[in-house]
Amino acid sequence: MKRIMSRSFVILIVSLAMVAGICLLAFRLLTQNEQWVAQAYNGHVASSNGLAQAGDITDRDDVTLAYTDDNEERIYHEDYSTRCALMHLVGDNSFNISTSVQSMYRSELTGYSFVFGLGLPKSLRTNNSIDLTVDADACKAAYEALGNKKGACVVYNYKTGEVLVDVSTPTYDPQYPPEITEDNESEYDGVYLDNVVSSSYTPGSIFKVVTAAAAIENIPDIYNRTFECTSSYDIDGANITCEYAHGTLDFTQAVAQSCNVACAQMAVEVGAEKMTETAEKMGFNKTFEVSGITLSKSVYSLENALGDNQLGWSGIGQFEDLANPMHMAMMCGAIANGGTPVTPYLLDSDSSILHKMGVIEAKTSEQMLSPDTAAKVQDIMRATADYYYNARGLTMGGLNFGAKTGTAEVGEGKEPTAWIIGFTEDENHPYAFAVAVEEGGYGISAAAPIAQAAISSLVNNP
Ligand SMILES: [Zn+2]
Repeated sequence: MKRIMSRSFVILIVSLAMVAGICLLAFRLLTQNEQWVAQAYNGHVASSNGLAQAGDITDRDDVTLAYTDDNEERIYHEDYSTRCALMHLVGDNSFNISTSVQSMYRSELTGYSFVFGLGLPKSLRTNNSIDLTVDADACKAAYEALGNKKGACVVYNYKTGEVLVDVSTPTYDPQYPPEITEDNESEYDGVYLDNVVSSSYTPGSIFKVVTAAAAIENIPDIYNRTFECTSSYDIDGANITCEYAHGTLDFTQAVAQSCNVACAQMAVEVGAEKMTETAEKMGFNKTFEVSGITLSKSVYSLENALGDNQLGWSGIGQFEDLANPMHMAMMCGAIANGGTPVTPYLLDSDSSILHKMGVIEAKTSEQMLSPDTAAKVQDIMRATADYYYNARGLTMGGLNFGAKTGTAEVGEGKEPTAWIIGFTEDENHPYAFAVAVEEGGYGISAAAPIAQAAISSLVNNP
C-alpha cells in the first residue's frame, strides 16, 4: 500500500510538471511567437535570408528603399549612395545591424500571423510594408558630406518627432555586402553599429550648452558677470586652457566664443551637485527609446573627479563626459520647443492620423528645461550662429538657426571628435540636429557642413 502511495505521488509530480511545461510552452508561443518566427534558424523565414516574403520599405515620399522581387530576392534602392546612406536604418539581409528595421520588425515585414503563420497568400496579407519617416535624398546628402569619415548625422522635426535623417558611417552596400577580413577590418571597424543611436562620444564644447543652462539657473547675476581669459587659468593647482586669449567676455560671449576658461569657472561655481542635476534633467545618464531602439546613454559623472579642476573640465565637455547624437538632437529640440522635447520616431506607423492632422499633441519626453531657461539658451545658440557661424559661411538652407560646435579632445594621439548641434527656426522646417565626426578636427569645418548638406536638401527638395 505504502509503495502504491509513493508511486502515485511520483506520477502526480510528473503529471504536474508536464502540465506546467505545456502551460509555459503555450504562454511563450502566445507572447514570443514573433521573435521565434524571425530567428535565423526558422527555415520558413530564413530561406532567402529571411526576407523572401518581406514587404516593401519606403521613405516619407514613398520612395522604395527595399522590396522583394518575384524571385524572392531582396532588392535595395537603385542608387549606390542611397543604399549606403540608409543601410543602418533599413538593414541588409543579415541580422548584423540589430537596430535596423529589417532586424527589429522582421515579423511585421514578413506578414507573420499567429493564426495563419506564414501560410497566408501574399495577396491576402496586409500591413507587411513599413513606411519610414526619413527623407532618402537628405540621408544621401548627409552620407556624401560625411565622405570617408566615421560618424553620425541626425535631423528630426522637433514639432512632430519625425526623424528625417539618420545616417551612420562607416557603412556598406547592403545589395553587395563586403567580406570583412583581417586585411580590411579597420576600414569596417564599428560598421554594424548605427552611431546615431548606438554610440556615445566625448562632447567637447557642445556640452557648454548644458553648463550655460546650469549657470542661468544657479548663478543669479550671471548676466552681469564678466570673465577674463588669458588663454590659461589655474583651477585647483592645474591649468584650464583656451586655444587663444579671449580677453574680457560677458556670459553670452563666453559661451558663444566657447571660452574654456570662463565655462570651467561657471561649472566650478555651480558645483558638482547642481551641474549633475542640470545634466540629468537634460537627459544625461538617462535611457531613451526611439521606435523601440534603446539609445546609448549620454554620460555626465563626477564619481571619479578628484577636485575642482576636473569639475571644470567636465563643464567644457571633457573629463568623462559622453554624448549620444540622437539624444543631442532631442536636447536641441527641447531648447527650441520651450524646454520639453518631442520624442523622435522612425516608423510612420508610430504616429496616429490624429497626431499628423495636429488634432492631438505629439508624444513628448520628460521636460528638460524650464521655458525661461530654454528661451535663454536658445538666445545664446542663436547669437553663436549669428555672430560666428554665419560669418564662416554656414547657412543651414537659408533658415534662421541656433547652434553650438565642439572639438572634443579624445587623447590616444587621435584627432578630436568634431561636433555640431542645433536647431532651425522656421514654421515649415523646425529641425533639431546633431552631427559627430570621429577624428574630424574642428566642429565648424568638419561637422557643420554635414548638417548644412542634410538641411539644405530638406529645404530645397521638400
Ligand atoms: Zn578663453
